[in-house]
Amino acid sequence: MKIVLFGAGGFIGSHLVEHLAARAEHDIVAVDVSDDKLAGIPPTAYRFHRADIRSDRDLVDELIAEADLVVDLVAYANPSIYVEAPLEVVDLNFVANLDIVERCVRHRRRLIQYSSCEVYGKFSGREGDRVDEEADLVYGPVSKHRWIYASAKQLLERIIHAHGLAGQLEFTILRPFNFIGPRLDYLVPPGTRGGPRVFAHFMSALLSGGPLQLVDGGTARRSFLHIADATAAFQAVLDDPDGSRNAIFNVGNPDNDTSIRGLAEVMLDVYWELTGEEPTSELVTVAAEDFYGAGYDDDGRLPPDITRLSALGWKPQRDLRTTVRETMAYYLGEHAAGRLSVPALPVR
Ligand code: UDP
Repeated sequence: MKIVLFGAGGFIGSHLVEHLAARAEHDIVAVDVSDDKLAGIPPTAYRFHRADIRSDRDLVDELIAEADLVVDLVAYANPSIYVEAPLEVVDLNFVANLDIVERCVRHRRRLIQYSSCEVYGKFSGREGDRVDEEADLVYGPVSKHRWIYASAKQLLERIIHAHGLAGQLEFTILRPFNFIGPRLDYLVPPGTRGGPRVFAHFMSALLSGGPLQLVDGGTARRSFLHIADATAAFQAVLDDPDGSRNAIFNVGNPDNDTSIRGLAEVMLDVYWELTGEEPTSELVTVAAEDFYGAGYDDDGRLPPDITRLSALGWKPQRDLRTTVRETMAYYLGEHAAGRLSVPALPVR
C-alpha cells in the first residue's frame, strides 16, 4: 500500500515514518517543510518531499491521487501560538487541511486525520470521569483565542464526518491526548514564557538549573501517552480498516493522568535517578496571563475513555514514570552528545 503522510517531519509524524520504515511493508511518502526529525531513518526506506501544503498544491494533489492512504498530521500544536497568531492557526490547521480533505474526497482516498483532545474544550466532570468520543464540545468566549485551535480542529472533524455520512469519504479521526517522547519539542532558555509544550519547558529548566514554571500553580490536569504507545495505536487502526472506518478515536492513557505540578515532581525525581545529581531547579508559580498573554484559557481536561480504541486490540503499555523517564533519557542523551542545548538568551 502507498501511504502519504503530510506533516511527516513533525514529532508524531517522524515516529510514524520510523515505525513504517522499520516494518518495510508499505511504500512511504513523507511530506513536510523540514526533515530534521527524520534524520535517523534510512533514506532508502521512504521518499521525502520538502513541500508546504499551503503553497505546493499541485504536488499535494498528485501525491493524494497516487496514494492508497493519506495521513494528515499538519498543524500548529503549541498553545502559545493559538494566542499569538490565531489567524495563522486557522490558515494552517483548518484552511490548508480542508484542502487535503477535499482532494481525498475528489480522488476517493482513505484519510487518517490527526485531530486533538482539545476539541473537547472545557469539559469537566467528577473525580474518576473520563471523556468519550460522543461527549459535548464546550469552549470559552471568542475573546479567549486559545479556543481558536479547538474550533479549527472541530470544524475540520465535522466536515470530514459529513463527507463520510454522504458516502464520499472513508476516514478515521484520531484525537491525541498529550503524546510525549523523543523529538517532542525544542529547548528554551530559563524563564521563557510561551513557546513549546510543558515537557520541553520543564526539561529546559532541569538542564539549565532554571525554575520550573507552574502556570496558575500547575493544577491543570493532563494524561500523557508515550509516543511508542501512540504509534501502536496508529498501527491498530491500520490493521483494522473495517473497525476504524468512519470512526473517531481517543488516543491516550487515562492511567497517566496527572496535575502539571505532579508532572514537575516526577521529572525532578527522574532527573535525580537518571543523572545521579540532585536537581537545583525550583518550582515557581506564574499567572497564565503573564506566561501566555491575554487570550489564554485553560480547560478542565478529563482523561480519555479508550473503550473504542481498545476494541481494536490496542492498549497503552507504559506508565507515567516510564513515559517520562524514556523521554527525559532521550533529551539527556542528546544534550550530553552536544546535539541539543539550552539557548542562553530568553526567547522574549
Ligand atoms: N504549563 C506549565 N508550565 C509550562 C508550560 C505549560 O505549567 O512551562 C501548563 C499549561 O498551562 C497547561 C499544561 O501545562 O495547563 C499543558 O500545556 P502544554 O503546552 O504542554 O499543552 P496543552 O495540553 O495545553 O495543549
